[in-house]
Amino acid sequence: MPRPERIAIIGAGPTGLGAAWRLLELGREELTIFEASGAVGGLSSSVVDGRGFTWDMGGHVEFSHYPYYDRVLDELLAPHAWLRHERVAAVRVQGRFVPYPFQYNIHRLPAAARRRCLKGLEEAAKRRTRPEDFARWILASFGKGIADLFMTPYNRKVWAWPLEELSYGWVGDRVAVTDLARLRRTLRTGQDDADWGPNRFFRFPARGGTGAIWRAAADRIGPGRIRLRHRLAAVDPRSRTLRFSNGRTARFDALLNTSPLDLFARCVAGLPESALRAARRLRANSTHVVGIGLSGRPPEALADKCWMYFPESAHPFYRLTVFSRYSPDNVPAPGRQWSLMAEVNESPFQPARSARIAADAVRSLRREGLLPSGCRVLSLWHRRLLRGYPLPTLDRDEALGALQRELERLGLQSRGRFGGWRYEVGNQDHSFMQGVEWADRLLRGRREKVYRAP
Ligand SMILES: Cc1cc2nc3c(=O)[nH]c(=O)nc-3n(C[C@H](O)[C@H](O)[C@H](O)COP(=O)(O)OP(=O)(O)OC[C@H]3O[C@@H](n4cnc5c(N)ncnc54)[C@H](O)[C@@H]3O)c2cc1C
Repeated sequence: MPRPERIAIIGAGPTGLGAAWRLLELGREELTIFEASGAVGGLSSSVVDGRGFTWDMGGHVEFSHYPYYDRVLDELLAPHAWLRHERVAAVRVQGRFVPYPFQYNIHRLPAAARRRCLKGLEEAAKRRTRPEDFARWILASFGKGIADLFMTPYNRKVWAWPLEELSYGWVGDRVAVTDLARLRRTLRTGQDDADWGPNRFFRFPARGGTGAIWRAAADRIGPGRIRLRHRLAAVDPRSRTLRFSNGRTARFDALLNTSPLDLFARCVAGLPESALRAARRLRANSTHVVGIGLSGRPPEALADKCWMYFPESAHPFYRLTVFSRYSPDNVPAPGRQWSLMAEVNESPFQPARSARIAADAVRSLRREGLLPSGCRVLSLWHRRLLRGYPLPTLDRDEALGALQRELERLGLQSRGRFGGWRYEVGNQDHSFMQGVEWADRLLRGRREKVYRAP
């Protein structure tokens, strides 16, 4: 492999920063990250609003599948700059909180609902079908009771897409599958079973929100290597030239794209029509993030919670995070203020009333009695993320395969949450490691695992 002299990375989110981090670690000093916006971090950035409340782009927590990523986090922020948490999460159904995972804790439901859930699970355990799509996978795995009460309405809200058009290959360690013997034990003892899953313990920066991690990474990589306000507009793979919407150009020998793959494909000269057609088949939903800065202290029902899931249609949001619990520094006057962050997903199948989302969220919280009566809303912050979740549609892998093959033919790679479009490896740790593995492939000929074999 010839030694690439000019290495270009598009996007300064976790994937692009991961690639740069590893290149520097391997001794490659010459590299440039081109970032469209005026800041680093991408979807993992944070902002401080006009009232001094800190917000993430939706509830972000740090948990990891990779020791390498853990070591980098340890290097980026000093031990005292991290707050460590044990997850307390719950699902809101029929006016009560059921500990998460819901399917392990049905003993907390009213008797009739509990019986329905158990019956559904027992019937599902007897049937051995191979489901064709995510909607049927839910029924086959959990039965009708849990599907109706939680799994189906919740997933409709999150994906904002017909569940019959989604695959379930991404599920992996993201959804707890029920073990009937374990569930019967819980029903007998009445003890909560809430310690499942990779994000049971997580950490969060003491100051500056999740974005503090990526600002620290950018500082270490060196601001001179990061060109902000450079939005990629065109790639000529033959002359190995990039053109940006600010009129500047740059040459490259090796290129990693981490911007949305569908848009990137449109920038690349010489991609065949079949690849462009494949790019048009990639689907995403949009995410509205609503930050609610509040006076006083959280009510007892919320004070111990990290986040909650809301499957019922009475609430516009699917998830609510007690963001001031992650760090007291997320509010300007800790102890006298607190904050909530609500997420609403949108697509052509599930349009959202954008102008009213924030007010609707507050109204539904008040109606449900989740905001104490004297509690004042001090700040209402709203951000729409045009792309929130890359959707695992049934034909995604075929479309991705066709498109990535053509990009490879031109010597281009695209990785990351929307650069790679694989939800199953779409978290920060996965994204960072995709960048790391791209650098290892480029300089050491190593095979990529995270993206290629999730
Ligand atoms: C609601 C929500 C909740 C989440 N919660 C968690 C969580 O709890 N834990 C977790 O680990 N992960 C979470 N994530 C995922 C996390 O945000 C992503 O894993 C991560 O940000 C992906 O990094 P990335 O670099 O691939 O993409 P991005 O973060 O999207 O970064 C891509 C960068 O490319 C830039 N760019 C775009 N177009 C161009 C262009 N044309 N030219 C130049 N630059 C461009 C963008 O401005 C951006 O900075 C969550 C995501 C969402 C939406």
